[in-house]
Amino acid sequence: MSTLRFHAIKGSLDSKPVAVEEKVRRSELFGENVFNENTMRQYLTKDAFVGVINAIKYGKKIDRNIADQVASSMKDWALSKGVTHYTHWFQPLTGATAEKHDAFFETTGDGMAIEKFGGSQLVQQEPDASSFPSGGIRNTFEARGYTAWDPTSPAFIYGTTLCIPTIFVAYTGEALDYKTPLLRALHAVDDAATAVCRYFDKNVKKVSSSLGWEQEYFLIDKRLAASRPDITLTGRTLLGHSPAKGQQLDDHYFGSIPTRALNFMRELENECMLLGIPVKTRHNEVAPNQFELAPIFEEANLAVDHNSLLMDVMGRIASRHNFKVLMHEKPFAGINGSGKHNNWSLSTDTGVNLLAPGKTPMSNLQFLTFFINTIKAVHKHEALLRAAIASASNDHRLGANEAPPAIISVFIGEQLTKVLEELEGVTKGKLSPQEKTELKLNVVGKIPDVLLDNTDRNRTSPFAFTGNKFEFRAVGSTANCGNPMTVLNTIVAKQLKDFKVEVDALIDKKDLKKDEAIFNVLREYIKSSRDILFEGNGYGKEWEDEAKRRGLSNNKTTPEALKARVSEQSIALFEEMEVMSRKETEARYEIEIEAYIMHIQIEGRVLGDIARNHIVPTAVKYQNILIENVKGLKEIFDKKYEAVSKEQLSLIEDISSHIEGINANVTKMINERKKANNIEDIEKKAYAYCFNVKPLFDDIRYHCDKLELLIDDEIWPLTKYRELLFTR
Ligand code: ADP
Ligand code: MG
Repeated sequence: MSTLRFHAIKGSLDSKPVAVEEKVRRSELFGENVFNENTMRQYLTKDAFVGVINAIKYGKKIDRNIADQVASSMKDWALSKGVTHYTHWFQPLTGATAEKHDAFFETTGDGMAIEKFGGSQLVQQEPDASSFPSGGIRNTFEARGYTAWDPTSPAFIYGTTLCIPTIFVAYTGEALDYKTPLLRALHAVDDAATAVCRYFDKNVKKVSSSLGWEQEYFLIDKRLAASRPDITLTGRTLLGHSPAKGQQLDDHYFGSIPTRALNFMRELENECMLLGIPVKTRHNEVAPNQFELAPIFEEANLAVDHNSLLMDVMGRIASRHNFKVLMHEKPFAGINGSGKHNNWSLSTDTGVNLLAPGKTPMSNLQFLTFFINTIKAVHKHEALLRAAIASASNDHRLGANEAPPAIISVFIGEQLTKVLEELEGVTKGKLSPQEKTELKLNVVGKIPDVLLDNTDRNRTSPFAFTGNKFEFRAVGSTANCGNPMTVLNTIVAKQLKDFKVEVDALIDKKDLKKDEAIFNVLREYIKSSRDILFEGNGYGKEWEDEAKRRGLSNNKTTPEALKARVSEQSIALFEEMEVMSRKETEARYEIEIEAYIMHIQIEGRVLGDIARNHIVPTAVKYQNILIENVKGLKEIFDKKYEAVSKEQLSLIEDISSHIEGINANVTKMINERKKANNIEDIEKKAYAYCFNVKPLFDDIRYHCDKLELLIDDEIWPLTKYRELLFTR
């Protein structure tokens, strides 16, 4: 290993920035710190290797003896890289990743010590995790939960710790994390999609779901960010007047990346390479100091792990470059917020992307089958899909005319709209040979394998088809993609399962040929899910009215949106697809609604504190300066003083009225909070926070922001937007 490369790999996570030598090829670094297939081939016996691969590919159980071998090899590999600790790495419902490190080191009782790591430590652990949210699943007297190895996501070295991706479940079996239901949903979609694929190709044994996320974020100077209590405690600014210059010139978007940001990105990408996160794209986003990072898509479970890991890595590396990363969906009022588009598709173990049009009529019929079933699934479960992206922070973004609206709809582009229209006209029942030829040649056969709509995009659509994948754009930048991916894959699994039943029934009972039956069912689907298709401007008021007529939901706030999670339809869906039991679904609802309440509560406290303890005293101080000034003028000018102190006098009055505005509204907010806190029912409590407490934030902010414009810049206590956004 060259010294250069060694240097890069050794880059410990909390030291100074590592000078990244671009002479080292990224492809050489890729996966260096991952116990991947390549590494396993080197370190595992043949038996153990086959055991793990079978677990990854076909979900086979790994027996104890194999687990011991794998653990021992993992340890050897990790020790060879200077690793001292291991941890089960999981994603509890807090939204952050969790880890508890244990040293390999163990004493032997005779004054000696060794490094030890066995199958039992690899396979299962019992972290003392009683403080993670469980939605009432674990009573405190039975607070035990355990983590269990997920062999489908490879172990990796982070810093000097070996991290083993795991699921986190209660002792009674209920999921307490994002990964468990996701794995179940991926299993469900595999089963359902494989069965449907076999209409077209008997060789297909497995269908995987793929995910390519696009992470947007802000980079703010660390010290400036630390000077703002709102950023420190809530991840966003709760007040601050818009700067004279924001994003109106569009001069940041796709512009040249500022040097300091680029240095951060290079080091981040390097770390991602080592961790096997295939990051590929980086660019400036619309708002000043806003950027985006996107990888090459991967199998969905791995992609979700990689995104969670990335968010953690970003924070640490940013800190070394004296930046703070803001992942929040809306850190600054008046300029764009951040999202995390989830590009999603399904592909077979024979290498076919099921959402890409093919070259033959038959492969196009397969494409249309998956395409139309997805549309139908989204239509049937639009409210649940909206619930999957609901959070206090994402509420700022959805429907704010920069991100998709809170109404879920599907954009498919002109060409495919035409194809669906033609398919809708297909005769019911048996088709004449002529009709069949016509369909094959002129409808299905005409879909080009590269779709124009790939470039002609509708940016206002929350769920858009972009040529060979669907892009779920409403996901928030802080979200764990596991949640939306669980819902999307579950609804598509259910839809494909129903589709298979309907097609089989037509073949058996109506004696239709396979493709006739498929055409017949698809035709009905197109008719019944037409209402979810929307090609127009998602930001317009007309769309809101139209969506209402179509019966689509328009849940603008989290408490309203989350209800769909626990509707009888959703509970039945998750139960049928074996993704979540009723208890698990209800627990998740409770956790999310509580998280909402906590977020608004914390924001309210922070805002009240800043307004009363920072802004009002500053306003009084400045007012006193003005009063002194007026007094002085009076001394000099005597009776004429009013003419020369007009401006000061009106300023003094304005300041008083804004102080009054702040105090009245903060008092009101505190009272509303008290009232909300006394409500037992958490749903009603969330509504009280949403509709009685939160609106007062705007009123308080209004007066604070006005004062920012009046008061001497020198004594203003908060770092201003212009400094936060334009310090590079
Ligand atoms: P953008 O949306 O920014 O214009 P692209 O659409 O080219 O960029 O790609 C965005 C993301 O979509 C990337 O992460 C890419 O890997 C991912 N992607 C491309 N094809 C697929 C697919 N078949 N399944 C899932 N994600 C995909
Ligand atoms: Mg995209």
